[in-house]
Amino acid sequence: MSESGAARTTPFDLAVIGGGIQGTGVAQAAAAAGYSVLLAERHSWGAGTSSKSSKLIHGGLRYLRNGQLRLVRESLRERRILERIAPQLVWPDDFHIPVYGATRVRPWQLRLALSLYWMLSGCRTEARFRRLPRGCWQELKGLSRIGLQQIFAYRDARTDDRRLTAAVAASAASLGAELACPASVTSAHWLGDCWRITLDEAGDSRQISARLLVNCAGPWANQVAATMDPRPPQPQVALVQGAHLVLSRPAIDRCYYLEVPGDGRAVFLLPWGTGSLLGTTETPFSGSPDDARITPEEEAYLLRVLDHYFPGEEPEIAARMAGLRVLPASPTAPLRRSREVMLTHTPRRRPNYIAVYGGKLTGYRATALKVLHLARNSLPRRRARADTASLPLPGID
Ligand SMILES: Cc1cc2nc3c(=O)[nH]c(=O)nc-3n(C[C@H](O)[C@H](O)[C@H](O)COP(=O)(O)OP(=O)(O)OC[C@H]3O[C@@H](n4cnc5c(N)ncnc54)[C@H](O)[C@@H]3O)c2cc1C
Repeated sequence: MSESGAARTTPFDLAVIGGGIQGTGVAQAAAAAGYSVLLAERHSWGAGTSSKSSKLIHGGLRYLRNGQLRLVRESLRERRILERIAPQLVWPDDFHIPVYGATRVRPWQLRLALSLYWMLSGCRTEARFRRLPRGCWQELKGLSRIGLQQIFAYRDARTDDRRLTAAVAASAASLGAELACPASVTSAHWLGDCWRITLDEAGDSRQISARLLVNCAGPWANQVAATMDPRPPQPQVALVQGAHLVLSRPAIDRCYYLEVPGDGRAVFLLPWGTGSLLGTTETPFSGSPDDARITPEEEAYLLRVLDHYFPGEEPEIAARMAGLRVLPASPTAPLRRSREVMLTHTPRRRPNYIAVYGGKLTGYRATALKVLHLARNSLPRRRARADTASLPLPGID
């Protein structure tokens, strides 16, 4: 059942498909800008990728290696905004980077990257990185000391991704958006001046109409696009799986950024609930996004990293998670591919269809504003109700 019952006779300004962070973000920004919005999610808020992330609200220190300065700067700005408007959902934390004799990235390189990261974040005093004095090393319980040369600590932020997504959906509703969940979009037909969209709500079929359709179905976006008439353009994208382990043991009390011996990737080990969260991986994925599952190789890979840095711990796995990144299709390694959001729209000048592919949890608000900018010529003038940069997000239990 939809959460607002009244039958509409006029088309919505926008219909948004997918209640992950991007869909809820677009619905919230559109409602704040005064538009009438319907947001449809087939399972629950954040049920897809948006509950399987590394739960970081960050600029992405590792993206500096690929020169993605624009993305890092934008994400750090968004981190600042989210810390302000949602302190109950986004909290700052210190991340520790241990450097050993065999670590590929040398201390001077780290100092350089961390300085740049700090500058891009606006040079806030409290966000300055530091080197941990040797006297403090024993506080990092269980961390291997063999060959340990230095430990850097820098400031970033964490979140509960599912609750953040639910909070953005609740904010959209409070601004007047109609939420339909669970509601699966099964087809959409362009009638010349608006879309006729069919929703399946627990076996009941309902039709609504909207001037603009925004496809925020994440890894399912191309599947959703294939049910539309006319069929919109589908960019060349690749799905890359990222897996996490939720560990009931060891229960660590610090955040770690760990270089994986061998491939040099970064893996995070974070406190999570009463245990820890360990991830992630980058495994090319094909098949239906519904079938994303951690593979035995991914599990072994993550446990090897844990054992390397925290030898002797006997991990206990409480849960396994796998999510899918939507990245540009390319022969280069996933690590080197852009993490910028990709927006597809048609027709060019006055789009009636916009699709959001990829992007970051952190940048959901900035992405939503880009979508509205693209849509500005297609929608009637409305009076804005709020600014999402200063509107506090509601708390979610
Ligand atoms: C392993 C991993 C770790 C990550 N870590 C971070 C991180 O730490 N920080 C960060 O900023 N970003 C991170 N990201 C990126 C971020 O998580 C994703 O970019 C973001 O969650 C994608 O959100 P989305 O809304 O596009 O997709 P999704 O969250 O997948 O949402 C799509 C939604 O569409 C719904 N849907 C599908 N078909 C239909 C239909 N027909 N009708 C209605 N609904 C439909 C699905 O149920 C789903 O809920 C990570 C990504 C991965 C994969």
